Amino acid sequence: MQLCPCQVSAKPAFLASPVLNQPVVYSDCCQPYHQGISKAETAERLMRTRYSAFVQVLPEYIVHTTLPAQQALLDIEAIEQWARETPWAGLEIVEHTPKLGKRQAQVEFKAYYTAPNGAQAAHHERSTFVKVKDKANSDTWYFLDPTTAMSVSQKQPCICGSGEKFKRCCGVYLV
Ligand code: ZN
Ligand code: ZN
Repeated sequence: MQLCPCQVSAKPAFLASPVLNQPVVYSDCCQPYHQGISKAETAERLMRTRYSAFVQVLPEYIVHTTLPAQQALLDIEAIEQWARETPWAGLEIVEHTPKLGKRQAQVEFKAYYTAPNGAQAAHHERSTFVKVKDKANSDTWYFLDPTTAMSVSQKQPCICGSGEKFKRCCGVYLV
């Protein structure tokens, strides 16, 4: 029974599932998403499964949960190395904003790790996620990677495929 990485917090008082108030095992939490059995219902779920994928060193999951237009720009080996070399110490979801924009959501989080001096440190970030409709009209959440340099002009159609101009859609969140 392996506790799901996304349920581990560096803050002992903080429990991710206060309702359950019991440990959530990996196979009941992020594993079905990593195996492609479940699809993230919300941006927060996608954020959790991506954090767990870093801990489990599943770089493919990190790549295919990034907006398709950005996937080719990712360095999978660098992701794998970073995932492997970081001593992950827990996740805390600070805030989930499900409706940041028409299709966008934001998750503020702290991803904890143990610094070289043994102290607890955290990547404190606000990540943007975008909901994309596929051909079957079903929604899929993707991570909008702010670090990939995109050669898309403000007037071009948005990279998420919404049909709107980039500057009025995801471009707002990629500055
Ligand atoms: Zn989990
Ligand atoms: Zn967009």
